[in-house]
Amino acid sequence: MIDLRSDTVTRPTDAMRTAMAAAIVGDDVLGDDPTVNALQERCAAMFGKDRACFVPTGTMANQLAIRSQTEPGDGIIVHSESHIVHYETGAAAALAGCTFLPATGPRGQFESAELERLVPPDDDHLVPARLLVVENTHNRGGGSIWPIQQVVDVCETARKHELRTHLDGARIWNASVATGIPPSEWASGFDTVSACFSKGLGCPAGSIVAGDEKTMRRVFRFRKMYGGTMRQTGILAAAANHALEHHIDRLVEDHAAALQLAAGLNALPGLSCDLQSVETNLVFVDLDPNHGSGPDFCRELAERGVLAEALDPQRIRFVTHLDITPAMIDHAIAVMAEVLGGIHAS
Ligand SMILES: *Cc1c(COP(=O)(O)O)cnc(C)c1O
Repeated sequence: MIDLRSDTVTRPTDAMRTAMAAAIVGDDVLGDDPTVNALQERCAAMFGKDRACFVPTGTMANQLAIRSQTEPGDGIIVHSESHIVHYETGAAAALAGCTFLPATGPRGQFESAELERLVPPDDDHLVPARLLVVENTHNRGGGSIWPIQQVVDVCETARKHELRTHLDGARIWNASVATGIPPSEWASGFDTVSACFSKGLGCPAGSIVAGDEKTMRRVFRFRKMYGGTMRQTGILAAAANHALEHHIDRLVEDHAAALQLAAGLNALPGLSCDLQSVETNLVFVDLDPNHGSGPDFCRELAERGVLAEALDPQRIRFVTHLDITPAMIDHAIAVMAEVLGGIHAS
């Protein structure tokens, strides 16, 4: 199987498993797992924040950042296509009592003017905007990277309006590797930042949320409340430490594979992909309805050993990762050519 559904499908490498097996562990609820503590300190430094908290999932990382910086009834300004809007089961509403003030703009991004438009005046009838969330890279935006100046601008505007700011950096290392801009710089305008070890970094589980001391005290408390505080998690933190050492620089290979895939797909009848838009490891492809629907196309591919995801009826997402080689990409393109030829002829 050539699994291009997501970068979450990676399995830990032998070296990662060795690091996990060798981890010195303790009870993290009591604060004495040295491997977790080392990971948290390392991430706090990497993002230029006071403190970091290791959590099971990226969803929990985002939700802790939201819960810690809002109160029920508050509004969150976030792009309408964002992960916290689409893929977190309504948790911001269910757990933090927040509503979204959705922003729009191309590729999951928006400008300061859009933010200004969404901040309501101080009026008892209205939803008070309390938190800005920026997703970078932006998943449904096509793995797009925010221009750094645009990030600086929206954070400045948010601060002017006394909003808190959170960076959903599930794939922030992809943005760093692609631009050369370090994670600390991407995170510098934000009060809190989250990132996932379980995506391009190839870990079996684990995410991080980092921020200032006062906010992080609340994050640690709500992690316990949400049931996310674990015991000998040094086993998982060891995987993350290993990934931070060995799996960041190699993300360039995933980005090259994504471009290779996009170029190959673009040459096939019925598929189109704007190569300019492929900035990281996500490839969104439009399927001409004359060649069937996205789900049908994905089923045909799956029968031939290639897995992809139809996120929308005519839009398919392919994701490159640690377990994908250039030869596998060539094979996947050949399989798609075969499927399209077949559908076309019938
Ligand atoms: C994957 C992802 C998350 C969190 O996902 P989990 O599956 O809960 O770890 C959050 N934000 C973005 C942008 C993501 O891609």
